[in-house]
Amino acid sequence: MSASPTGTTRLAGVIGWPVRHSRSPDIHNAAYRALGLDWVYVALPVPPGQVPAALDGMRALAIEGLSVTMPHKAAVAAQVDRLTADAAALGAVNSVHRDGDRLVGDNTDGGGFVDSLLEAGVDPAGRRCVVLGAGGAARAVVRSLAAAGAAQVTVVNRDAGRGAAAAELAGDRGAIGTAADLGTAELLVQATPVGMGDDRTLAADPGVLPAGAVVADLVYHPLVTPLLAAAHDRGLQTVDGLGMLVHQAARQLQAWTGHDAPIDVMRAAAGA
Ligand code: NAP
Repeated sequence: MSASPTGTTRLAGVIGWPVRHSRSPDIHNAAYRALGLDWVYVALPVPPGQVPAALDGMRALAIEGLSVTMPHKAAVAAQVDRLTADAAALGAVNSVHRDGDRLVGDNTDGGGFVDSLLEAGVDPAGRRCVVLGAGGAARAVVRSLAAAGAAQVTVVNRDAGRGAAAAELAGDRGAIGTAADLGTAELLVQATPVGMGDDRTLAADPGVLPAGAVVADLVYHPLVTPLLAAAHDRGLQTVDGLGMLVHQAARQLQAWTGHDAPIDVMRAAAGA
């Protein structure tokens, strides 16, 4: 990236409400600098109801790529010209790019999560997986675990209807379950906000997991959640949520710029 933007600088950004706290500008701009790309990535606050105008702005201003965060993921899915298979199945978009005049909505959350597992040496293929939660992040994870060859993806959620809808995303390997299913889980994925910030609640008891199980938490603030700390104390391998944050951004950067993402640079920027 240039020391400062010039007439040829290409623009990308993130839309959300609120969005000023987003780590995405740090992550993407660090990658542009490392790759020597004349790109800049900014946070764009878009109030609820303004998504159609924001996407018109993307077209008119030739913005190269937009990340999409809360609360706009479903609204963007309804407004773009085309959806990838992941975005269509999830009804949620976290990344928009241009294909000529058309806007394409994608969802890189689930793929980014699986990338973070693989980077940690954990292949979900053939594993019995339990996912806690059935919100947007859990749904993306359920679909991608099934696509990556998980033997089973069991969803444990407070709201049974949302749990069943999430489990369906894993097709015939999806199921709804209870805490009792942790007893046979080879991969536990914590996908609720429990354990975030100052919340010291243990989302589940890792003591009931079989030896050799892996515990992943999507929460990345704090990096070591109460669940991951307890799992580590039990001698289980853990995967923190920062990897998913980095890899979902890496997939966006690759799609928009065509360059391989500098993962270590992006991770350092995300953790700062
Ligand atoms: P969401 O759509 O609001 O869904 C939240 C889910 O958590 C719902 O299924 C909800 O259950 C459940 N839940 C909420 N509070 C709970 C509690 N006290 N006990 C049990 N279950 C509870 O949220 P989301 O977007 O999926 O995000 C979930 C978490 O993942 C957040 O902490 C977020 O920061 C994290 N996340 C991380 C990344 C990453 O890159 N690492 C990406 C996305 C999200 P009900 O359905 O029963 O209400």
